[in-house]
Amino acid sequence: MFKLLSTANPKIQKGTKLGYLSFILHLSPADLSGREVCPKRTAGCTQACLNTAGRGGMFRKGENTNVIQQARIRKTRYFFEARDYFMMDLYEDIARAVRYAERQGLTPVFRLNGTSDLSWEKYTINENNIFELFPDVQFYDYTKVLGRKTSKYKNYHLTFSAADGNDADVQKALAQGMNVTVVFDEIPETYMGRPVFNADETDLRFLDPKGVILGLKAKGRAKKDRTGFVVFMKQA
Ligand code: SF4
Repeated sequence: MFKLLSTANPKIQKGTKLGYLSFILHLSPADLSGREVCPKRTAGCTQACLNTAGRGGMFRKGENTNVIQQARIRKTRYFFEARDYFMMDLYEDIARAVRYAERQGLTPVFRLNGTSDLSWEKYTINENNIFELFPDVQFYDYTKVLGRKTSKYKNYHLTFSAADGNDADVQKALAQGMNVTVVFDEIPETYMGRPVFNADETDLRFLDPKGVILGLKAKGRAKKDRTGFVVFMKQA
């Protein structure tokens, strides 16, 4: 039904109980497509990336790719090689998704960096970015890029992502009033002197209280992380 967007992630489905339906754009992260889409990625996040969570990480014996990974690579190349067509398809997908969600009595919300960290405010159709083209629609993302010029888009919510080696940016993000996600082995009650909210409950980050740390539990490959990407609260 959609050329670029999907709704499949189980965490995102949890949002439907609250009346929201999230649509996600999954590109091929890091430089897996031959093009970089995560300018501030770290060794740890690249290794633990959610790109291989769920069905995206299921490979046939002896293979290191699958139809999901290939589709993400195809979309990423499409974004770089035929930007205008990509943006028009994205526009049409969002318009279709809005109608689809509304038919089901749900509020559509959109996360364009499911497995990438692009500054979507910079990409336009006739000089308007996607947030300007859909001013009544809520968008949200996680980012490691500090200083993105998004505050004027009231319908775009950004949460900063902590990772191995970006501590100084985490401090700046908190000082700027952003919430910060941290991946833990066990989610604590407080961290860095702030309350920690469980961000695994839903993906609806625009509903979070302000000034908090958002705890995510290490999953999959992240459980074995030793880069500093995962914060271990239990003694090893
Ligand atoms: S920045 Fe995000 S999407 Fe990119 S490699 Fe790191 S965790 Fe994956």
